[in-house]
Amino acid sequence: MGEPRSVLVTGANRGIGRTIAERFVASGDKVATIYRSGELPDGVLGVKGDVTDTAAVDAAFTEIEAAHGPVEVLVANAGVTRDGLLMRMSDEDFETVLDVNLTGAFRCVRRASKGMIRLRRGRIVLISSVIGLYGGAGQVNYAASKAGLVGIARSVTRELGGRGITANVVAPGFIATGMTAALPEDTQATYKAAIPAGRFATTDEVAGVVHFLASDDAAYVSGAVIPVDGGLGMGH
Ligand code: NDP
Repeated sequence: MGEPRSVLVTGANRGIGRTIAERFVASGDKVATIYRSGELPDGVLGVKGDVTDTAAVDAAFTEIEAAHGPVEVLVANAGVTRDGLLMRMSDEDFETVLDVNLTGAFRCVRRASKGMIRLRRGRIVLISSVIGLYGGAGQVNYAASKAGLVGIARSVTRELGGRGITANVVAPGFIATGMTAALPEDTQATYKAAIPAGRFATTDEVAGVVHFLASDDAAYVSGAVIPVDGGLGMGH
């Protein structure tokens, strides 16, 4: 275990973000979250805020930095879906998903970069989705937002790669969360048949990859899209 780092995971109250936050707590880091609702895991400093609100993001970073020091590891995890067929998708459903998933990540990356540049080190991990590059019927908004994260990570890599900062994308496939458990049995079976691994992933399997990307061992990995999808999206 090295020196504890200041780690920020957005949306750590549930799902994948929660497990990622727990993983960093377990490795001795100082973990904080910007979250909207719910309860947080033990040992996580929570600041209420919405990633669609620039002032709230800035204020949350200021509070987190005062408690834990400059954010050295940023995991942009907060995300939403508003699925619907293209012809019927409203501007609002498109824009809301972009605002949370893509612009929300941008707001956090921009704010985190200040401290990382000063520190001359940093790890940025953006939680995308297999859908970003694979596409998804009824998910034009979600796929666009998740594909956009690749552009952010690669541009940040070109801009800040010389300053000890890496930026990578993790693209999970189907993860066993409340959302996937709620799918009917036969729908779950159809999805599983398309996944070479033949099963959904656990949130721990995503958290482990994020943790690796934030580690010293991943110092030379940047601008990469790491699938955690059991082979579903192979060939991206
Ligand atoms: P959940 O729906 O369980 O959790 C989403 C999290 O994002 C919640 O903490 C939620 O807060 C937070 N959030 C949403 N909108 C905002 C906002 N405007 N400001 C701050 N926080 C917000 O999702 P998962 O854990 O399943 O997904 C986490 C990430 O992983 C997402 O980016 C998702 O797109 C991605 N992903 C998930 C997959 C899956 O199979 N589950 C597959 C591929 C990618 P609140 O509780 O207040 O709503």
